[in-house]
Amino acid sequence: MGGSGDSDFVHVREVGPRDGFQNEPEVIATGEKVRLIDCLARTGLSRLEVTSFVRADVIPQLADAREVLRAADVPEGVAVSVLIPNERGLDEALELRDRFAEVNVFLSASESHNRRNVNRSVEESLAGLERVVGRARVEGLRCEGVISVAFGCPYEGEVAPERVFAIASRLVAAGCEEIAFGDTTGMANPRQVREFFAGAHQSLPQGQLTAHFHNTRGSGLANVLAALDSGVRSFESSFGELGGCPVPRGATGNIATEDLVSMLHEMGHDTGVDLEALVACARRAQEALGRPLTSHVLTAGPVDWHPDARS
Ligand code: ZN
Repeated sequence: MGGSGDSDFVHVREVGPRDGFQNEPEVIATGEKVRLIDCLARTGLSRLEVTSFVRADVIPQLADAREVLRAADVPEGVAVSVLIPNERGLDEALELRDRFAEVNVFLSASESHNRRNVNRSVEESLAGLERVVGRARVEGLRCEGVISVAFGCPYEGEVAPERVFAIASRLVAAGCEEIAFGDTTGMANPRQVREFFAGAHQSLPQGQLTAHFHNTRGSGLANVLAALDSGVRSFESSFGELGGCPVPRGATGNIATEDLVSMLHEMGHDTGVDLEALVACARRAQEALGRPLTSHVLTAGPVDWHPDARS
């Protein structure tokens, strides 16, 4: 098994406790969230987004961000990140500065989506996030910039890659070491992804480039393959295929971490993740939420899984 300097190594950031939980209609008890985070933190995942410091009235599900961050028992070597919308969110998070290593900031590539999501223009968002990132860097935090609807916007349609790269360049200049490109409503296709990342590597020579795909229309893993072919070695995903966008209702969300890890391992990539341990976390989430989750590997089991041979 190779180390993280190996080109066959693929980084996986688990975003289920934030991106997944925030879209659950029923409030999940804080203790349950913490148990699931603790479970995920022991699967070999090296990056874990645990919550978001958004306003409680905007996303009530994450109103317990402080409690979750304080209670999570995450082993050393697992980088804990929190999503930060603005300076007020950063102020709140910094009260627990020793509990996390990374800050993820976000905005949308299109004006309409950004306006609906955070009620600001893209330029206003960028100005605010530059201040957040500047302050986070002073605190010694690693920063990731997440750009939503980077592959298409449900309100505006096509989004020019050059526009996305220009936003990404601003975030890199502000101090983001990593940029994640989100296919927030599942509009990307593999050919587009391959061309997008070829251009992104040219436009953004510094900085780690991460892909955040949704499986809304079933193209999630095909897009992963296209991104891999374009040299991307960092992905974000959600265990149990939790999460997504509340609009349209019932749409599936993020690619499932266990499906991603299974495919990567079958292709010969190393992720550091123990797939069976990860599937066990998804199963626990299924029990906690009281409904079947939709990931393929949770349903079918890993490729070399022989339950009958185990007794
Ligand atoms: Zn997502």
